[in-house]
Amino acid sequence: MLTVDQALELIASHTARLAASRVRLRDALGLVLAEDVVSDIDSPPHNKAMMDGFAVVASDRASTRTIVESIMAGDVPRRPIRPGTVARVMTGAPVPDGATAVVPVEQSELVDDTTVRLSWVDPPVGKHILKQGSSVAVGQCVAKAGTTVNSIVMAALAEAGAAVVSVVPRPAVAVLATGNELVSVDDRPAAGQIRNSNGPLLVSAVVEANAAPVELPVGRDDLAELTGLVTQGLAADVLLVTGGVSAGVKDLVPGALTAAGVTQAFHKVALKPGKPIWFGIAPREGGPPRLVFGLPGNPVSSLVCFQLFVRPALAVLAGVSPKVELELQTGKAAGEFEYRGGREMFRPARVDKEGRIHLFDWHGSADLAGVVPANCLVRLPSEGVKLQPGDSVAYLAIPGA
Ligand code: AMP
Ligand code: MG
Repeated sequence: MLTVDQALELIASHTARLAASRVRLRDALGLVLAEDVVSDIDSPPHNKAMMDGFAVVASDRASTRTIVESIMAGDVPRRPIRPGTVARVMTGAPVPDGATAVVPVEQSELVDDTTVRLSWVDPPVGKHILKQGSSVAVGQCVAKAGTTVNSIVMAALAEAGAAVVSVVPRPAVAVLATGNELVSVDDRPAAGQIRNSNGPLLVSAVVEANAAPVELPVGRDDLAELTGLVTQGLAADVLLVTGGVSAGVKDLVPGALTAAGVTQAFHKVALKPGKPIWFGIAPREGGPPRLVFGLPGNPVSSLVCFQLFVRPALAVLAGVSPKVELELQTGKAAGEFEYRGGREMFRPARVDKEGRIHLFDWHGSADLAGVVPANCLVRLPSEGVKLQPGDSVAYLAIPGA
């Protein structure tokens, strides 16, 4: 059986960034730029006053000067400034030709409508003026390919005139829960039934991973029905199926996936919980293959497999990470804990603000309510471990939890 690391390597070998697409700037939030973006203008577009005050010739030493015009932000100066004259300027206004400094209004006193007395007559050249193109020059790169568009980048792109940008799209992820026993949250389960929790789990985990979920109707344990739903799901970049991948008589998912043209890359990983996980690929023209994960039906196994295998793959598809791998962190055990070993385990736990890991009580892969406090998965080695308070432990943080 593959180890977790071997399974990640295999997934990595089939996973590549999605092809770029062009979107309106406002739709780019949270996406990764696929190309460098250059500015189509100088910023500022003119020498710009950074204070309300008077645009002056810096070398002029006269204290009383004539005001030749007032320039607001948005105005265009009409008259050059010479010694003995000034222009009243507001913050953001273009500084007129000839002016080489701005004296703030606080250092002035109006004598009459067209005359001002300055109490500061020797400002250094350039004082309170932001030179044209000093923030960004026309043709200069404002954000490199690989940058995630956040509110700051969004603003810089708007200034640069990037009305349409080339981005890596959000991966589309189809979610297919399977099982004759499943009913929805709106229903009270009859005898033998349970509520579908994996559907909501995966749809929300996909959203938390900044990908776009597409929820398919629940699939009954019937090969033809499952094959049809899988085929629908293969319209997405990634298909997540849950349930039906272990060894039971109604575990028809691997068969349905194969029938729909998905090629198995691996089935089963030496992992607890999550051993029955299935992974395969479906070819697509002109792009990397679609990825298909058959996640185990037990809710906590599904959760663990999503965090370990699906989330890192989504990060690569979206251009966020260069490679499918786990970003493990290190914390300290808050108390004693023994793992007898067997398979490598990723056990739900809670890491607090001080980095202490609390391995609270939990009753295994079907105990979904028991993992509500979890915000991380602690890695416990296959050979087992006896943790003492303060011992180092590797863990995978669960974003959003
Ligand atoms: P299976 O692999 O289909 O046999 O499912 C393993 C266990 O997970 C069974 O107890 C199922 O009832 C349960 N299970 C499967 N799918 C779901 C689901 N969508 N939501 C909650 N539990 C599920
Ligand atoms: Mg089932």
